[in-house]
Amino acid sequence: MVNKTALIFDVQRFCLFDGEGIRTTVFFKGCPLRCAWCCNPESQSPAPELLIKPSPACASCGVCLSACGEGALSLGERGVRADLSRCTFCGRCESLCGFDRIRTTGKAYTVDEVTEIILRDRDYFADSRGGVTLSGGEVAAQADFALALTDRLRAEGIGVTLETCGFAEPSSFLRLAERAERVYFDVKLLDEAEHIRYTGQSNKLILANLREAAKLTEVVVRVPLIPGVNLSGVFAAELAAFLAPLPVSGIELLPYHRLGLGKYRELGRACSLADTPLASREENRAFFETLKKQTDKPVRFR
Ligand code: SF4
Ligand code: SF4
Repeated sequence: MVNKTALIFDVQRFCLFDGEGIRTTVFFKGCPLRCAWCCNPESQSPAPELLIKPSPACASCGVCLSACGEGALSLGERGVRADLSRCTFCGRCESLCGFDRIRTTGKAYTVDEVTEIILRDRDYFADSRGGVTLSGGEVAAQADFALALTDRLRAEGIGVTLETCGFAEPSSFLRLAERAERVYFDVKLLDEAEHIRYTGQSNKLILANLREAAKLTEVVVRVPLIPGVNLSGVFAAELAAFLAPLPVSGIELLPYHRLGLGKYRELGRACSLADTPLASREENRAFFETLKKQTDKPVRFR
């Protein structure tokens, strides 16, 4: 019996956009990158956290403070504040807040527990040619668990798709990639210095993993289009040239959005791109057209 655990921040059933058919997506918590545009900031830390909506959303009623036996919460001008060093992530505050303003994120699951949730929908997977998507955070940062889960699901006849930033120790990452039916592989920037500037890490390991993964399974490259960072004809040309010799099956473009900004506030963190304006439809389209002219791979917006 497998008893490995992983820290997971969500298991979403009936997903339609993370691969083919109806899917269950498992979100692993913890990522080695710190992309300035990340829309899931709660996915970054490899530890549980609290998300607290500031006042006036928080009514400052104090119910959660009374519920907390650890003295981890206090009331300030902007509502409730948390001292995570005292929090045991017991979830009492979350269950008692009548306004749904505070929640824990990140819970340890065993392979058996995640598999049990996934198997509830196996008939839907079969009927829709769907399956399971492992996402994050970075799945390969908890590679032993991901490998055990993938093997369990394959034994049940359920296919697995992997979403990755690619920054991972190569041997376990490639074992994971070769078991996946498809890998959605993020490529953000090709210039190493720019990559370090905007994600906190070099892209050398990422690009090496991409080259190897593409030999093992179907790889779709995903590119977030960030105004002022990579939304340019120069990057489109660089990307086309880099991908030309690689057997990737397609390129998906993800226009920048700011839907994650509220979560930065709830975590008490700043987003360095908070003031970045959204690109116009024409600007995103121009990137698409420029790339399309220079690559033989299928290109589409996600
Ligand atoms: S219980 Fe909810 S609304 Fe009341 S203080 Fe706590 S977070 Fe705010
Ligand atoms: S999760 Fe538990 S320990 Fe943490 S703040 Fe809420 S009630 Fe307190």
